[in-house]
Amino acid sequence: MAVEAHDVEGRDLREHVIALLEERGVRLRDIAEIVYAIQKDYQPGLTLDGCLDSVYEVLRKREVQYALLTGIALDQLAERGQVPEPLGSILIADSPLYGIDEVLALAITNVYGSIGFTNFGYLDKRKIGILAELHNLGGAGGRVNTFLDDLVAGVAAAAASRLAHHWHHAE
Ligand code: MG
Repeated sequence: MAVEAHDVEGRDLREHVIALLEERGVRLRDIAEIVYAIQKDYQPGLTLDGCLDSVYEVLRKREVQYALLTGIALDQLAERGQVPEPLGSILIADSPLYGIDEVLALAITNVYGSIGFTNFGYLDKRKIGILAELHNLGGAGGRVNTFLDDLVAGVAAAAASRLAHHWHHAE
C-alpha cells in the first residue's frame, strides 16, 4: 500500500517534520526565540508562546514541509557520502557560492510575501540564536548543516512575517 504524504508512519506530516528538526538539533522553541528577537520591538506584548504558535502554524503549510524534507534529506545524504560528486563535496564544504540552500529557504518565506523575504535577508546576515550554532556546527565532526541553517532562518522569517501581517490587520 502506498504511503500517503500526509501520513508518515501514522503521524501528521507536520509532526514528522518537527521530529526531524529535533533529530537535527533544532527545537521549535529555538526557532520561536529567533522570531521573538526580530519581532519584539514591533509588537508590544508579544510573547515567546505567541512566537511558538506562529512557528507551529507556518509548519502547517505543505510547501514549508516539503522544503524542510528536501533540504534536510540532502544534508543527511551528504553526511553519509551519498550525494554524487561534485555536488557532495560542494554541500560538505558549505560553499558560499552554492546558493541553492538560500533559494530553497525562499520557498518557505514566499508564503508570507515580501516581508518574509526582507526578514530572511536580515537573518541570513545576523545569524541570531541557534542560527549561529548551526552555521558553526556545520563541518564539525562530519556534520552537514548546509540546508538546515537557511531552512530554519526561512521558518523564523515566515513566522515573524505572519505575526506582522496579523498585527497590522488587527490594528
Ligand atoms: Mg546554508
